[in-house]
Amino acid sequence: MQQAQIDRLRSAAIPAQQLFVGGQPMTAISEARLDVLSPIDGRVLTTIADGGAADIDLAVKRARRAFDEGSWSRAAPAQRKKVLLRFADLIEQHALEIAVLGVRDNGTEIGMAYKAEPLSAAGTIRYYAEAIDKIYGEIAPTGRDVLGLVHREPLGVVGVIVPWNFPLMIGAWKIGPALAAGNSVVVKPPEIASLTLLRLAALASEAGLPDGVLNVVTGRGASAGEALALHMDVDVLAFTGSGAVGRRLLECSARSNLKRVHLELGGKSPNIVFADVPDIKHAAKVSANGIFRNSGQVCVAGSRLIVQSQVYEHFMGELLVATAKLRVGDPLDLTSDIGAISSAAQLRKNLGAATRAEAQGAKRLAGGKQIRIESGGNFMSPAIFADVTPKMDLWQEEVFGPVLAVTRFDHEEEAVGLANASSFGLASAVWTGSLSTAHRMVRAVHAGVVHVNTYGGADISVPLGGFKQSGFGRDKSLHALDAYTDLKTAWIAL
Ligand code: NAD
Repeated sequence: MQQAQIDRLRSAAIPAQQLFVGGQPMTAISEARLDVLSPIDGRVLTTIADGGAADIDLAVKRARRAFDEGSWSRAAPAQRKKVLLRFADLIEQHALEIAVLGVRDNGTEIGMAYKAEPLSAAGTIRYYAEAIDKIYGEIAPTGRDVLGLVHREPLGVVGVIVPWNFPLMIGAWKIGPALAAGNSVVVKPPEIASLTLLRLAALASEAGLPDGVLNVVTGRGASAGEALALHMDVDVLAFTGSGAVGRRLLECSARSNLKRVHLELGGKSPNIVFADVPDIKHAAKVSANGIFRNSGQVCVAGSRLIVQSQVYEHFMGELLVATAKLRVGDPLDLTSDIGAISSAAQLRKNLGAATRAEAQGAKRLAGGKQIRIESGGNFMSPAIFADVTPKMDLWQEEVFGPVLAVTRFDHEEEAVGLANASSFGLASAVWTGSLSTAHRMVRAVHAGVVHVNTYGGADISVPLGGFKQSGFGRDKSLHALDAYTDLKTAWIAL
């Protein structure tokens, strides 16, 4: 990736976007449109269609028709694999163009966006493409007078609703297994970052995915999103986003057709540093990246740092040095370590959380201010607050921004108590030189993932999902296929 290539792509005009329904671009029935604002300079980048209930209904009908016709749902697994592999190749071929488009939309630093968005999405699609002709049904261990067969079948129409931080990566985690299993899909992208998912759908079509199998309806959560959640002909809703919206979707399911709802929600993940951490400087650097990359807009961000007293001063010194080295700047400049906050509203939320933390007695050690104001974009310096207690909002509430809460502990049980003093349970980390401490902590911390002597960076082969109020769905790995398939028994008298 070269700066000159990025610069060429960044100035390309982005045409007004349509919905993608039934294999082609389509105007929203109401013809309403939404402005897309650049997080980099605050200007209007383009417009998207403000889809509503009627557009969702049309997309679901097209998805259902495609499913019933069977050109995808009943195609041989090897055929689906071929199309999905071509789809993955196309995403890869257009990776830089897609990455730059996404950064212009949501502000993630390009180095991270390039890997985490198109390349990760291509890898995910390829993983499920390759899996699909290797998964067998079952023969049950019955008596000899019957044959019990367990078939795995696609569910039908899958609704997908994703957030703005990594729409393509998270979208692919759901679209990949859903399509591989033979379902049709209707995606409602986040209203402030829809562009890459629209591009993805066009590439799927180019790869040979039959019309109507993958549809994208842009629009607002309260209208298009809720219409998808309430639709009587959607079989599954796969959601990543906030807890408040997750609760709403469960209600929508109860009020409509009891569709299955898979929720991947927020986090407030503890990052625990024991005094026997092998390399304090390295741990501090990785921890700074673990909370501040993509401006903290990462569901698994290590936003609560818990450090053992004996090394507290040393570790915090290294953390402040590592944080000061992180350059916040234009996300399309390869020298920036941290890009823009996705929207002005999110920036205000982050700044408010920093102000409230101080008012509640936390000690500001660094940052937490709006910067680069002259750019017209949304930028904030990474914030570190010490002496945060479990009673404070900064301990309990997800900011989803570059704001770190820090406290210290003396004994292991205290660290476990602090780590688990949260309604969330998405991710966590433990830094220690002791294998025994590491294994005890892996068992004791209530979270879907416990990193040991690292933070982040897992690949598609392992599941991701939360405990407690971080949700109960599982993206990634072969386990994700369970969410998009149903088991059917054939009970045959012999
Ligand atoms: P959000 O919940 O506000 O929005 C997520 C999506 O839901 C968007 O597409 C939005 O349009 C849609 N939506 C909003 N209201 C809706 C409604 N009433 N009905 C249907 N859809 C509706 O979340 P966000 O601000 O986009 O993203 C940030 C949140 O996502 C954070 O809480 C973060 O932790 C979480 N997240 C979780 C993971 C994970 O894997 N667990 C990953 C990334 C982000």
